[in-house]
Amino acid sequence: MFHRIEFDPVPFKPYTELLEPSLVEDLRSLVARMEGERIIHVNSTAVGGGVAEILRSLIPISKGLGLDTDWYVVSPPAEFFDVTKKIHNLMQGAEGSLTPKERHTYTTYAGQAANLDFSAIEADVWILHDPQLLPMMALLPEDAYPPIVWVCHIDLSAPNLDMLASVSGNIREADVKVFSLQQYVPAGLEDASVEIIPPAIDPLSVKNRPMDVDEARIRMAAMGIDVARPLVTQVSRFDPWKDPWGVVEAYRIVKQQMPQVQLAYLGASHAADDPEGKVIFEEISAQTKDDPDIHLYGDADIPLESVDLVVSAFQTASDVVLQKSVREGFGLTVTEAMWKGQPVIGGNVGGIRLQISDGESGFLVNDVPQCAQRILRLLQEPELRASMGEAARTSVRQRFLLPRFLRDYLKACQEAKAVRAIGAMAFDTPGT
Ligand code: UDP
Repeated sequence: MFHRIEFDPVPFKPYTELLEPSLVEDLRSLVARMEGERIIHVNSTAVGGGVAEILRSLIPISKGLGLDTDWYVVSPPAEFFDVTKKIHNLMQGAEGSLTPKERHTYTTYAGQAANLDFSAIEADVWILHDPQLLPMMALLPEDAYPPIVWVCHIDLSAPNLDMLASVSGNIREADVKVFSLQQYVPAGLEDASVEIIPPAIDPLSVKNRPMDVDEARIRMAAMGIDVARPLVTQVSRFDPWKDPWGVVEAYRIVKQQMPQVQLAYLGASHAADDPEGKVIFEEISAQTKDDPDIHLYGDADIPLESVDLVVSAFQTASDVVLQKSVREGFGLTVTEAMWKGQPVIGGNVGGIRLQISDGESGFLVNDVPQCAQRILRLLQEPELRASMGEAARTSVRQRFLLPRFLRDYLKACQEAKAVRAIGAMAFDTPGT
């Protein structure tokens, strides 16, 4: 039910050139403290979405630094992902609740995972990602499992309170809880061992290392884009929270004033745990089929092995990059585009607010008309685009590269061990 994703280590030295020496030092000393300890990550998909994106770089970099670490992915039946996508939507604030049958599917599968597999994997610290496996927390045999760090990657700024209440007992069981932003920490958990760790990107991955603009244009032309005309792009799963409808509407407003503009929406994330994507892709395709300047790309249009290069090309050579989300846990696509010198126009929500300094390294927008207005401005003012893009890249280099994130995770692992040790002492002391 769990399978391991295999990676070879990658050398860490090339990263040091992008980092402050103090960060490199911190990282090396934390790695030394973890010697002999095995850190295991678990999530629910090996491809697609931000968590998989992070882990497929974090694991090889960690191994390159000498850490003993691995990543396991669960492979449950499809109905489990229908339920966990619903849970994801509820946690981000959708209305509704789980039916008794859905609740049963959720807890049964997680229970099987706890009983059958967890104990078979050797680990000194577990890092569990997102809500998919939370019910397992209540089922693990007490004290017979290593310290657990639970990481929440979703936007909890306005959650469905019933849903949150039904999992908060499980969240509490984790030794350390990690959120991307302080504002996501649910009421009542503030005092518990909570760490705030915003995500980050791998600056040297295939997706993020520099691509020559001419190469990027050749790749975009091969995807049907007329590279002589302006292009607005959003790279995102076809997900309601990414507001694909708002993206199309903003483009249509711009098109009235600038008829030559084109739109690309890349949603070829191949995410196994997002069954909703295909439905939304088909809906938007039907709504936009009369406009040949709207280019939508789903899983079937871009094979998994070329997705990174295609995403890189569009993030590198589009004239404007959007991330018009209405909820966004963090938004790695924003970081990726900023790293490529793009001043992103992003929804004024969640992790996007943390990343974009409005008017300096990009624009934050509250609605479709404002989004359209910012698109027009960036299309009409190439010098502004260049200077804001420079600020965007600097900001990512200083705050959102993966080695900083790894350092923060290692601190969270140390803390989880400390929390567990204190708990054990309290347990062992007579009279407590
Ligand atoms: N992504 C991709 N292909 C696509 C759409 C998205 O590879 O067609 C990647 C994107 O580059 C980013 C990740 O999927 O690395 C999405 O992470 P983000 O945090 O933006 O959103 P999430 O999908 O986790 O909500």
